[in-house]
Amino acid sequence: MTEATADRTALTDGGRDVVEHRQLVIVGSGIAALSAATYAARSNNDPLLFEGDEPGGQLTLTSEVENYPGFPEGIAGAELIQEMKTQATRFGAEVEHGIVESVDDSGRPFRLTLTNGDVYTADAVIVASGASARTLGIPGEDELMGQGVSTCATCDGAFFRGEDMIVVGGGDAAAEEASFLTKFADTVYLVHRRDELRAEDYWADRIREHVADGDIEVLWNTEAVEVHGSPEEGVTGASLVRHPEGHPTAKLDADETEQLELDIGAFFIAIGHTPNTSFLADTGVVCDDAGYVQTVGGAGGGQTKTDVTGVFGAGDVVDYHYQQAVTAAGMGSKAAIDADEYLESVADGVTGETADATPADD
Ligand SMILES: Cc1cc2nc3c(=O)[nH]c(=O)nc-3n(C[C@H](O)[C@H](O)[C@H](O)COP(=O)(O)OP(=O)(O)OC[C@H]3O[C@@H](n4cnc5c(N)ncnc54)[C@H](O)[C@@H]3O)c2cc1C
Repeated sequence: MTEATADRTALTDGGRDVVEHRQLVIVGSGIAALSAATYAARSNNDPLLFEGDEPGGQLTLTSEVENYPGFPEGIAGAELIQEMKTQATRFGAEVEHGIVESVDDSGRPFRLTLTNGDVYTADAVIVASGASARTLGIPGEDELMGQGVSTCATCDGAFFRGEDMIVVGGGDAAAEEASFLTKFADTVYLVHRRDELRAEDYWADRIREHVADGDIEVLWNTEAVEVHGSPEEGVTGASLVRHPEGHPTAKLDADETEQLELDIGAFFIAIGHTPNTSFLADTGVVCDDAGYVQTVGGAGGGQTKTDVTGVFGAGDVVDYHYQQAVTAAGMGSKAAIDADEYLESVADGVTGETADATPADD
């Protein structure tokens, strides 16, 4: 432990005792956080993870992960996370219950306040708080999540070969997911509540091509109101409503509103993600318009640096495009390496900036 990271448990925060000081606090317990934790623990940075309200992150919502390298037969999402947690804690990382409510970056160390009021301080922070897929809130959705209802077509599409499938949404993600699913589906029903897609022209053109080929049928001005099935048999169908002027759930009593029933084997929701960044609101960490943390990116070292020196970002909270387990894990390892360089530079009394980008020599 460096001088800069001496135990500061005696510090107070506006009269409230600081529970603990750590060299490195990692916000999250998903795959990006756990990957960062293993690297950070092996670099003697004494990481403490707060697991948030979704311990283990999004992978715990899926049954089987078939595209994570090293598991040729696939692995259950929860098992992969448990193995990574075991690996990280073996090297000394600690995982605690706790949801970070706010971060104070006005001085050093950083002060993190949890929703229960506890205050922790840290010399460096890795934000790996992920993004939550938006859902519809309709009956059957929660019960069948991971059993035929999914928010990730790339991840789960191949499990439903030969089935009819629904994709809900009208933006780029929905158009891309519907196009992707034509590889597996008998017919993909793209359910959109308006009469035109919000997707960019490229994706709208792909949808038109698939419609012409008979792979996709677009259900315009339509919304899903219930998913049917059971955990044992999976998804068996969906109830939908349609109104000629769109947004039918707002017009359920209108004469023109029709009810539809579809037999399907899978139900994909592609209405966007919400990055979990509200706890950064009072910091200098810059987020894009959608709330995703902006990092330096590019080539060379320091790719995971944010606009606040000493705060790094990794995984789906940064990466709105790839959003895969392997990419999140990769970014987690980069964030831990960047944080290690930063902590060493602070201990050496250097600038406080991450060391210059130099090629790795081993
Ligand atoms: C149904 C489904 C199936 C998927 N299947 C696959 C697949 O087969 N293969 C694949 O590669 N990818 C898959 N994915 C995508 C993959 O799960 C994500 O890309 C990956 O989990 C992102 O990891 P992450 O650590 O960045 O974020 P997350 O997994 O989202 O983890 C975020 C963590 O941050 C915590 N957190 C949030 N806010 C706070 C806070 N304020 N304080 C403390 N902690 C906080 C949460 O509790 C959580 O632990 C799937 C996703 C879903 C939804």
